[in-house]
Amino acid sequence: MRVIGLTGGIGSGKSYVADRLAERGAVIVDTDAIAHEISAPGGAAIPQLVAAFGPGILRADGAMDRDAMRALAFSDATAKTRLEQITHPLIREIALSRGAAAQASEAHPYLVYVVPLLVESLAGHHSWRTLVDRILVVDCPVETQIDRVIARNGLPRAQVEAIIARQASREARLAAADDVIDNSGTLADLLAQIDRLDQAWRTS
Ligand code: ADP
Repeated sequence: MRVIGLTGGIGSGKSYVADRLAERGAVIVDTDAIAHEISAPGGAAIPQLVAAFGPGILRADGAMDRDAMRALAFSDATAKTRLEQITHPLIREIALSRGAAAQASEAHPYLVYVVPLLVESLAGHHSWRTLVDRILVVDCPVETQIDRVIARNGLPRAQVEAIIARQASREARLAAADDVIDNSGTLADLLAQIDRLDQAWRTS
């Protein structure tokens, strides 16, 4: 079974593409969803998060306080590293075990890992490069990303720009890509590209 790593900047259209690939029969393993699971009440990362940051990092319901953690990681590089040391290996381990189960079941034509930080991972010890057959980048101009995130989340423009500034550059993502979806156009343009890739991946 072919294994795809799908990535792209915030607002590029990753989730939209993953949803359409799922409709076409792909099995999707979404690392963002796993990140939420492990920091939900009773989640696998909660004990280590409390050990590292204290019980104050939890909300009343026992979930990680994402706003507090985001603010801490933003202002304190050591805290950010610690958070990543706790969560990234767990996310990866869970993602790979779900991917392996999907491969063993042979129920799907191909497997897609959605990994927002795939390109950021390439320089480190836990690179996704060797875990996927092809890296698919969903690409669009930064201005388009900003417009789509503002329309989707209502975030202030400066906040969206700050998030984008912390992510890999558009150029770095394109340099790592085996396949590129150009999502600078309409949804119809996007769907046509999704159909082409779906056909290519299921037939070869
Ligand atoms: P990501 O998962 O990469 O952050 P999304 O898939 O959520 O991005 O896409 C961002 C927003 O832009 C969503 O609201 C999505 O429906 C919308 N969108 C994506 N592609 C297009 C497009 N080609 N035209 C118009 N809206 C789009």
